[in-house]
Amino acid sequence: MSELNEGIIVILSSPSGAGKTTLAKKISLEKNFFISVSHTTRKPRANEINGLDYFFVSKIEFEKLIKKEKFLEHANVFNNYYGSLKDTVIQKLESGVNVVFDIDWQGTEQIKQKKLKYKIITIFILPPSKNELFKRLLNRDQNDKKIANDRMKQFNRDVLHWKNYDFVVINDDLQNCYKKINKYINLKKKNVAFEAFDKKLIKEHVKNLIN
Ligand code: ADP
Ligand code: 5GP
Repeated sequence: MSELNEGIIVILSSPSGAGKTTLAKKISLEKNFFISVSHTTRKPRANEINGLDYFFVSKIEFEKLIKKEKFLEHANVFNNYYGSLKDTVIQKLESGVNVVFDIDWQGTEQIKQKKLKYKIITIFILPPSKNELFKRLLNRDQNDKKIANDRMKQFNRDVLHWKNYDFVVINDDLQNCYKKINKYINLKKKNVAFEAFDKKLIKEHVKNLIN
């Protein structure tokens, strides 16, 4: 059972480009959450800073960390390794600091299966439309159409995982979306158990997205 003086875990997942990194940063800034900075073998984007956005490491370094069992979870996403180190996160949670993760569905499943004693809130982010998602991907990846297209190809598979999350939210207007996430976190923190989002609407939205 989670203790009052322990931190909670919030996990954000989504198809690539829907906005989870932006939202994780906002949660960190406005709610004083610690962001779990992942390790990855992907190359940094132009504006990314090592140690802040990710720890950028080689495949060999990453595999060494796997061998040493340093990861709380790790997965292969878009042909690169991504993983969250165990020690930093556990230290934070033990000292009462809340932690936000921006990870994919595979990592979420691994953390859930660990049955940690900390409270876990899982949130899935959806884009308003595929067109808008493509625009966001292009904008983020310096108009690299190949990267944006590769990520879009994965969309129909990734989006189906929304069903395994506590809450699902559409990231149309950023501030609105953040407000909803904030509400969901506060509800779950207080153990208020009710369906806070409209499942029927989300189901319909996903159906439209994948068609
Ligand atoms: P993800 O982490 O899910 O892959 P990002 O947070 O990197 O997505 O967002 C992808 C791009 O979309 C970024 O350039 C970001 O600034 C932009 N973005 C995020 N949320 C919104 C929003 N609500 N409206 C417009 N642009 C957004
Ligand atoms: P990006 O390359 O766009 O930063 O991230 C690609 C995907 O990898 C996203 O779905 C993101 O959530 C996921 N990801 C980032 N860090 C981790 C991590 O530590 N573990 C897992 N499982 N996925 C991650």
